[in-house]
Amino acid sequence: MIKRRKSRKIFVGKVAIGGNSPVVIQSMTNTDTKDVGKTVQQIKRLEQAGCELVRVAVEDEKAAWAIARIKSRISIPLIADIHFNYKLALLAIENGADKIRLNPGNITNRQQIEKIITCAKKYKVPIRIGLNSGSVKRTDKSKLADDLIKSARLYLGVFKNLNFNQIVFSVKTPDVLTTIQAYRRMAEITDAPMHLGITASGPWQNGIIKSSIGIGVLLLEGIGDTIRVSLTSDPVDETKVAKQILSSLNLRNQGIEIISCPTCSRCKIDLIKIVKQAEIKFSNFKMANLGQRIKVAIMGCVVNGPGEAKDADIGIAWTGKCGVLFKKGKKVKLVNRKELLKTLYTEVSK
Ligand code: SF4
Repeated sequence: MIKRRKSRKIFVGKVAIGGNSPVVIQSMTNTDTKDVGKTVQQIKRLEQAGCELVRVAVEDEKAAWAIARIKSRISIPLIADIHFNYKLALLAIENGADKIRLNPGNITNRQQIEKIITCAKKYKVPIRIGLNSGSVKRTDKSKLADDLIKSARLYLGVFKNLNFNQIVFSVKTPDVLTTIQAYRRMAEITDAPMHLGITASGPWQNGIIKSSIGIGVLLLEGIGDTIRVSLTSDPVDETKVAKQILSSLNLRNQGIEIISCPTCSRCKIDLIKIVKQAEIKFSNFKMANLGQRIKVAIMGCVVNGPGEAKDADIGIAWTGKCGVLFKKGKKVKLVNRKELLKTLYTEVSK
């Protein structure tokens, strides 16, 4: 059981972050924010995959104006990602952004920050102070965590002076160990909720491994209130990986978990292909349909299969000619290859 760090609860729209609320999954669109149709379409796919907060890049005034139209067509809260131009932060908030992200590396003028905070107070919108390795002047690489903390303290001071505590922090770098170190130190400095992530973590495989280790270690230590897995991939993939990280740490008990064996010479079926098909088939399940976590086992043989997957709610182990359907480790019936996935899907749907 993970003992979560006590953080202040804030609200992004109707979604709570911190204060022992469930760790929230978020992602970011990669469409042109001004293209409302495409952006809404991607957000709908993210919602369906289990994303609970979504961020869009606001590069110019037109993108800030688009927020109102996007928001009217989606169900999850929308976050505006702001860099360099403080006026875009004001415009995004006025157009209905539920939260904004500022980069302390490129909005540094105190009067401008004050204007943003005044506007955020008026509209009751929280702000993420989103530091990353690009936010600080490079000194010594080994001192990156120190530099990030120094910059975070300075920004935090401004927010404290203006009596604004509706903040979330992030201190992301592409280096897993530096990121872990920076978040640990931030967690001691402030009780603000933490948004976890490894920035620019790289292509699919690298990104998943680095994010799982970095985010996983911090969550295990109780640090982290919302997570964003950054992948050079479809943002829907980020959401799927985020869900897997939370579910692996028992921080989410919702959704389908596929358990499958690595295969060996006892396996007389193309299990790799079947499991890939199952992943696609079960990804169609809407999170809303599942009030619980369902473990589905797909095992290559009956010698070890049912035993190794006895914790599964339902599963199939291949015998060579047909599959044995089992529930909670008990054999239920035999199924042929063609019916295998359909049977599993039907049983889970029940
Ligand atoms: Fe091999 Fe059977 Fe274990 Fe799969 S379940 S790895 S096929 S022994």
